[in-house]
Amino acid sequence: MENLFGDQDLYPPESGNNFADIILPVPIPRMFTYSIPHTMQPEINLGARVIVPFGKKKVLTGIIGKVHNKPPQAYQAKPILEVLDDTPSVNPLQIRFWVWMAEYYFCHIGEVMHAALPSGLRLSSESKVQLNPNYDRETSKFPLDDREIMILDALDSKPELSYEDCEKVLSIKSIHPILKSLVKKEAILIFERLQEKYTPKVETRVRLTPPIAESKSALQEVFEALAGKAKQESILLKYLRDVPFLQKPKSNEKGLDKATLLEEGDSESSLKTLIKNGIFESFKVVVNRLAEEEAESEPAVLSTSQQSAFEEIKHQFESKQSVLLHGVTGSGKTEIYIQMIMEVLESGSQVLLLLPEIALTTQIVTRLKKVFGSKMGVYHSKYSDNERVEVWNGVLSGRFSFVVGVRSSIFLPFDSLGLIIVDEEHESSYKQFDPAPRFQARDSAIMLAYFHQARTLLGSATPSFESYFNATQGKFGYVELTNRFGNASMPQFHLADLAADKRKNLLKLDTTRILRERIQEALAKQEQVLIFQNRRGYSPYIQCEDCGWTGQCVQCDVSLTYHQFSEELRCHYCGYKEKTPSACPACGSTHLTTMGMGTERIEESLSLLFPEARIGRMDLDTTRNKHGYQRLLDEFGSGNLDILVGTQMITKGLDFGRVTVVGIWDGDRILNFPDFRAGERAFQQITQVAGRAGRREVQGQVIVQTRDPETQIYAQVIKGDYFEFFNHEIHDRKKFYYPPFVKLVKITTRHTDFKVAEKAALNLHHGMAEIPIKKIVLGPEKGIIARIKNQYQFESLIKLDRSGNTPVIFKEHLWKITEELKSRPEFRSVRFVVDVDPS
Ligand code: ADP
Ligand code: ZN
Ligand code: ZN
Repeated sequence: MENLFGDQDLYPPESGNNFADIILPVPIPRMFTYSIPHTMQPEINLGARVIVPFGKKKVLTGIIGKVHNKPPQAYQAKPILEVLDDTPSVNPLQIRFWVWMAEYYFCHIGEVMHAALPSGLRLSSESKVQLNPNYDRETSKFPLDDREIMILDALDSKPELSYEDCEKVLSIKSIHPILKSLVKKEAILIFERLQEKYTPKVETRVRLTPPIAESKSALQEVFEALAGKAKQESILLKYLRDVPFLQKPKSNEKGLDKATLLEEGDSESSLKTLIKNGIFESFKVVVNRLAEEEAESEPAVLSTSQQSAFEEIKHQFESKQSVLLHGVTGSGKTEIYIQMIMEVLESGSQVLLLLPEIALTTQIVTRLKKVFGSKMGVYHSKYSDNERVEVWNGVLSGRFSFVVGVRSSIFLPFDSLGLIIVDEEHESSYKQFDPAPRFQARDSAIMLAYFHQARTLLGSATPSFESYFNATQGKFGYVELTNRFGNASMPQFHLADLAADKRKNLLKLDTTRILRERIQEALAKQEQVLIFQNRRGYSPYIQCEDCGWTGQCVQCDVSLTYHQFSEELRCHYCGYKEKTPSACPACGSTHLTTMGMGTERIEESLSLLFPEARIGRMDLDTTRNKHGYQRLLDEFGSGNLDILVGTQMITKGLDFGRVTVVGIWDGDRILNFPDFRAGERAFQQITQVAGRAGRREVQGQVIVQTRDPETQIYAQVIKGDYFEFFNHEIHDRKKFYYPPFVKLVKITTRHTDFKVAEKAALNLHHGMAEIPIKKIVLGPEKGIIARIKNQYQFESLIKLDRSGNTPVIFKEHLWKITEELKSRPEFRSVRFVVDVDPS
């Protein structure tokens, strides 16, 4: 077997590259090196898919990641068997980007490839059978039986057969012994072949047949003939209504989609009769899944301050690769993006605009579509695979020179990016948590732009500390917009003291007096209200008043959240759910009470306080299906709702003119985040949600309910003084060794057995402590949640000196340590999850 393709390898060319490193869809850390047979030399392109032998008898499809002249040290290179693409499906810039990502985020290149390719293009393997090219039926010393001959005969007429084909050929199910015998006799090869999962969308269309379409009198006759046949007549009339064929004879060629023709309830059988009688004909066409829309509006004229920000960005791009645009909420960053995008597109380069997940269905996309029309592709995580493949192919074919997308759109096959814009660059959802690659899309975008020699524009009203720090260091350019667009002023803040109101008996259903008054005023003026609480469900816990029991997840060490609507207790970590018990499972008492407030409960409280108001709720529970989010936004936007209660979702980029009041239900909850980023997050979240208020003429009112109005961070948010806030916080970051002063790596050790997990984590710790670089190793500690989905977890946090190649050395050692640990039988099923730059 090993030598079957060997001959080709015996005569390497004088010059050229003889070896290729192949990215394989298997969990191995590095690429595998194969030799390039002489005859294939001209076809070998970076990014092309190839078929290679792997292991003893397996064949895999992979992608060429590198070509070079160095034979592998540790093993004898096997030859590439076949090249699948003449034109590579992945370009060299993408490959460079993948290689960088795998190294930087400490994962396998196969994992990056898996994340990068939409599953419609992924290398999924299906076993196929083909003739062994070295086999000669005449001279072979092995006799064949009848069934084996049937398979070989079939392979004479078809280059390859699937297992299913073989079953058909033999009309039996158990083909394996036969195939196995044929492999042994060196007559066939079994290989894993790439299967294209993408299927184009085919539409059945209907049109008038040429004899009818070409003469008015023929059509007249048809009508006469159909007199009294109401059903058929109605189909013909509908057709003539939708296809203006009498005015524009050519329009008959395109015809009408069959589903549209029959949508008013006309019957399929009547249409069949019309087809049988030669009046209509049906035909099939491949159509785009992505709707074509033409640009219909001009970009806005920039205000004076927007214009000067725009000029300043361009000026800074002359000397900086990345620029941070720090513009207050409502300053009109979108219009500046539009101008930038137009300029870059005109110069012939491509543009990518990244948006946080949830913002993608909102107004900003609608606005951009109006300006850019069908030039713009949208890459959404809720798209079907086939739709994603169409965006991918659209980028390849040049149909989309501009794409708006979620974090995974950095993997699209761009070949000449000129600009990447990262809107709301501070958003933590740009970081992928699970699975690997655990990449930060903003940081990766900067790297991608670097590979393309492109520019990166980062926009935010509340920049991340990393980006702002880079700006203060001169690494990024920095442009500021301090005014809202038009006459809109910044909102006015009120701190509502929960404890004081409670003392004075002014608290009703957990609302302070001032919050109630402001809501009441807004409702009276037909203005709208947003209420923010970062906790979904009805109330976080259900507790027994007698024995203190609370519901716990059976798979994770967390309390279950009470969902009143479905009468369930649910785990927000693993999705486990159970019916709410009517009595305490521990002591049998029926005194079960709810504690704390989730969005569902707030919605209920508000409907008791404001019975006349129309209230909607936006959280993970109400937006699970594809259109839930959009529907709620439409209802709110069109004024069908007065109050919208929601989680983080309502803070993301919404621009509704009639929102004048924003209530932050529990400000303290936002502050109490167990992380060094708590302050940064709180500043961002409160400023962002407040930024939804008063975006037009009427000044917005923001009410923050708190038990601790003296907290410093509130004063800083209210002043809107990001600089002061930053200076205060950055001091602590430096003192306690946190980013941006050090590089963080978090390693989670997981196992179903507590003891095994703990021991592995300790071993890992000792190994890391010995790496000869400047670092601080913290932990291992039990995870914030000690057990998730039955896996115990221990976390280690490593703080690395940023200078030189310390991180690189660290990672090299870390590979060795984890590999060594995993090779010990006791730790074989332990998982080490490495997260670089965790957030
Ligand atoms: P940001 O993203 O900075 O919070 P937006 O881009 O949503 O702000 O702009 C806020 C509002 O101002 C939007 O309704 C937008 O349509 C409007 N706007 C911004 N700039 C202009 C402009 N130059 N001409 C007309 N309207 C504008
Ligand atoms: Zn009890
Ligand atoms: Zn759970």
